[in-house]
Amino acid sequence: MTKIGLEIHCQLTKLESKLFCSCKANYREFEPNHNICPVCMGLPGSLPRLNQKAVESATSIAMALNCQTPEKIAFFRKNYFYPDLPKNFQITQLNVYGDMSVGGEGYVDVEGKKIKITRIQLEEDPGRLIYEGASDRTKITLVDYNRAGTPLVEIVTDPDFDNPRQVRLFLNILSDLLENLGVAEPGLEGAMRADGNVSIEGGNKVEIKNIGSFHDLEKALHFELTRQQSLAERDIEIAMETRHWDDRRKITISSRSKEEDQDYRYFLENDIPWVKIPQDTRDVLKENMPESISSRKERYIQKFDIAPQVAEIIASDRYYSQLFENAYSEHNAKDIANLITTDVIGFIDTKEKQQTSKITPKHLSDLIDAINAKTITRNSAKVALQEIVNSGKDTKTILEEMDLGQVSDSSEIDAIISQIFEDEKQAVIDAKERPETVNFLVGKVMQKTKGKADPTKTLELIKSKLNQ
Ligand SMILES: [Zn+2]
Repeated sequence: MTKIGLEIHCQLTKLESKLFCSCKANYREFEPNHNICPVCMGLPGSLPRLNQKAVESATSIAMALNCQTPEKIAFFRKNYFYPDLPKNFQITQLNVYGDMSVGGEGYVDVEGKKIKITRIQLEEDPGRLIYEGASDRTKITLVDYNRAGTPLVEIVTDPDFDNPRQVRLFLNILSDLLENLGVAEPGLEGAMRADGNVSIEGGNKVEIKNIGSFHDLEKALHFELTRQQSLAERDIEIAMETRHWDDRRKITISSRSKEEDQDYRYFLENDIPWVKIPQDTRDVLKENMPESISSRKERYIQKFDIAPQVAEIIASDRYYSQLFENAYSEHNAKDIANLITTDVIGFIDTKEKQQTSKITPKHLSDLIDAINAKTITRNSAKVALQEIVNSGKDTKTILEEMDLGQVSDSSEIDAIISQIFEDEKQAVIDAKERPETVNFLVGKVMQKTKGKADPTKTLELIKSKLNQ
């Protein structure tokens, strides 16, 4: 039986400052080694001060993942020596004398299967090592401590996954959930990293370390399962070890034998007192949590009769759901939702485009009003949308400037149809014999009017002309 478990590291990128000092949590905007202080550099005599907001964000994540959250939490030192760790220990959490990390015993539902969350812990990120050239052959390694001490939440699952596909689905759900909570931006480079533990029937557990993309993780898990199965078939013992994913060669490579917990000589971090999180504080946190993606989806379906697939797409993306929430009114919610999933998504399909797009909720409601009033066609709305996304000018101006008003004048459409009947004699004969081919003629009218002819009226007029 295949068993896969995950450890996911997620940066709390929405926080102002690091976990134990006032350096910026957003280390990305600094020159190397310009976002550091005696605390995050571990200089003698410096003392950590815990970021309260980080504890609150981590607790909200625990709650959103259906975890138990304890009354008191504690921090531990995890000792190891590595150039990216200036203190020679990492401040993290450990459930060794009972539950002392921010959360545990939660679950996430993935296509009807409960994936159990073992625990959630709050810890600091180490610095970054930058290798000049390939990491196994390089002579020069640079270190940047700007990231050292930034707040990180580690989410550990039970080995509940049966296959790599389930892992990918889980990670998609998790990253939507973190984004929805407003605590993280999983799309940022390095903001969400995962380790996978893989074992097959009776074999030792192998850990695959530090993969930055979900796509690569899925490939690495596939490779690792195949490697283990081939060893097992030849009766070769699977070594308990840590392996790295080599993205260039698409294989995992052995990096070092896996440390056990005792190798880290964990002990309580006595520079940080135990932190009490009373029930009423946790109640307030729970009340202030944003609506969950699943309940938002349910609301869209129940209240507005929106199709489940459409509701799912909008509810699981913070940007689209905010656009929808601010654009709809009682009478047009369904139309707005459909406009977002059929057309808007095509123009705004990345986080970068979400940031640069000039579209506002009013643009959407104005467009739907114009379609429903038959001032423009669905087709023209799409043309206008492209321009709105780029320029942000108001809908009325764009419709006038681009001459997108709908042609519904019968005589005008009739003249165009007569011309097309002349040009497409064979298609006219076909349409008389096989009525289902009439769309070809409708398409020609649309082409000629650049999508501006009223499609219902056009069809009516063509049909009556065919029967003459
Ligand atoms: Zn600092």
